[in-house]
Amino acid sequence: MKLTRLRLIGFKSFVEPTDFLIEPGLTGVVGPNGCGKSNLVEALRWVMGENSYKSMRATDMDQVIFAGSGHRPARNNAEVSMAIDNADHTAPAAYNEFEQLEVARRIEREQGSTYRINGREVRARDVQILFADASTGARSPALVHQGRIGEIIQAKPEQRRRVLEEAAGISGLHARRHEAELR
Ligand code: ATP
Ligand code: MG
Repeated sequence: MKLTRLRLIGFKSFVEPTDFLIEPGLTGVVGPNGCGKSNLVEALRWVMGENSYKSMRATDMDQVIFAGSGHRPARNNAEVSMAIDNADHTAPAAYNEFEQLEVARRIEREQGSTYRINGREVRARDVQILFADASTGARSPALVHQGRIGEIIQAKPEQRRRVLEEAAGISGLHARRHEAELR
């Protein structure tokens, strides 16, 4: 599975539809302070099912919607979608046969979020499990935010075990067990 495109529409400062194409090799994002680099990484975590508004540097989830600026009015919705190339068919079981996957999350002001995988509406949990099975996700240690290295060094053994479990590719199993126990 390879992330090939991230599309942002009305997410934080990205009021105009914006496509980030991720070519093979190393991708860097550079720009002056406040241009939206962190917003971009937040969009990536958000579409993978992040449900903590605090980790979006917001005081409620509606704040990820473009809030207006100067002459531009605020929007009432935001959408982030992620295109995944699955030509190597390494996606978890339910999605394995697809050549391409598109995972999208949309938020409507005061109405919360909806998720789609290849156009079909799914639960947040389904998106979270898809990425957990693929050993990644909104809380993946592969996404290192400021201060995170210090956190890992000071983490309790339990938390550090989670990092190892993800590296070992078994975090999806835990997510599934939790889901089974809830039923
Ligand atoms: P730095 O180099 O300082 O880390 P950065 O490139 O990471 O900067 P971000 O933090 O991603 O910048 O972007 C901050 C900008 O996004 C601010 O100008 C802020 O006003 C804007 N912003 C955040 N949320 C919204 C929103 N809901 N609507 C409009 N603009 C927003
Ligand atoms: Mg930043």
